[in-house]
Amino acid sequence: MGKLNVTVLRYLTKDDFRVLTAIEMGMKNHELVPGPLAAAIANLKTGGVHKLLKELCKHKLVTYERGKKYDGYRLTNTGYDYLALKSLTLRGSVSSFGNQIGIGKESNIYVVADEEGTPICLKLHRLGRTCFRNVKSKRDYHGRRHKASWLYLSRISATREFAYMTALHDRGFPVPRPIDFNRHCVLMELVNGWPMTQVHELLDIPQVYDDLMNLIVRLGNSGVIHGDFNEFNIMLTDAGKPILIDFPQMMSTSHENAQFFFDRDVTCVREMFRRKFAYESEDFPKFSDLERDDDLDAEVHCTGYGFTKEMEQDLLKEYGMIEEEEDEDDEANEPPVLVPAETNDIDEYRKQLEHEVSYSETKPSEKSNDAIKRYIESCTQF
Ligand code: ADP
Ligand code: MG
Repeated sequence: MGKLNVTVLRYLTKDDFRVLTAIEMGMKNHELVPGPLAAAIANLKTGGVHKLLKELCKHKLVTYERGKKYDGYRLTNTGYDYLALKSLTLRGSVSSFGNQIGIGKESNIYVVADEEGTPICLKLHRLGRTCFRNVKSKRDYHGRRHKASWLYLSRISATREFAYMTALHDRGFPVPRPIDFNRHCVLMELVNGWPMTQVHELLDIPQVYDDLMNLIVRLGNSGVIHGDFNEFNIMLTDAGKPILIDFPQMMSTSHENAQFFFDRDVTCVREMFRRKFAYESEDFPKFSDLERDDDLDAEVHCTGYGFTKEMEQDLLKEYGMIEEEEDEDDEANEPPVLVPAETNDIDEYRKQLEHEVSYSETKPSEKSNDAIKRYIESCTQF
């Protein structure tokens, strides 16, 4: 674990940023983005895209690869990180970068600082890193097949996390304060405490047990289940108060598997207390005890964020929360060659590029729900 290497950020010009964004756009339906397509999307007045692409390759923000049918550019993890970090820096949410403090199952966590120098937490979501190759394909709006890419999955994961964190924080739940998000990155308050994995002694064991069970019930009454309520995702302050983190896999209590995940969260706490503190209690909540008093689940899905049912399914599958259905016409053995875009897609690409570039400079809090919705919609391939 080390520092986030962000020196290149300083050297990225507006045009570099545009060309990198053009590759990102192209990757929505290309495994490799052909040079001419990148040039058409970036639409630089002065031209010279080829030279800029060469520079981006040198800095490992994109790679140039030979495909079966055509050659082209691929956005790297680093390239995607830079796009998001550049946006977050442009709008003043981040101003300096520090050390990595954690590696989760599906993320990397860093400490960064805002413009006042206050340390905050940056979470980079990393999902579906198998790239296009091993991800199940599905049909897009036009009935053409495409693969759910790591770009799409990481992005909806971060967005969903930000949406849940905001709704929870607004209601006074003990979660980090959400600050900003862009692409696969979420900025939030740095929790001053320890993950339960590192806690081996408690002053008041029954109290913390009750706090955690009450938290599960309070979430349930609001219409949601955390879904991964384990000791890595519960932090404890010095005063012994739990703070919950890690939300992209949260689901509604109305979901068909809700009871299973509710019970699993409860069992997780019971097991943890038995194992770590030799504490057992017959007092634990049941799904049937829940009395809904809020619609947090509906709020996350309806207000502006624009999640589709399909996005939720894709993400919950990736987190192993729901079964992957069998692909009727299995194309798993087919080589992952995607067709170059038809020329009439270029306008759509350019529209999204302009939107993406302008989105970079305003914070979600300063935007209307509509703008956020358009941003989320641009996650999906066209
Ligand atoms: P993942 O989804 O990959 O499991 P998490 O959100 O659980 O990622 O974060 C991984 C680890 O990073 C946590 O177990 C915790 O130690 C640390 N961490 C995450 N968020 C914060 C935060 N806001 N403040 C302090 N530490 C954090
Ligand atoms: Mg976690």
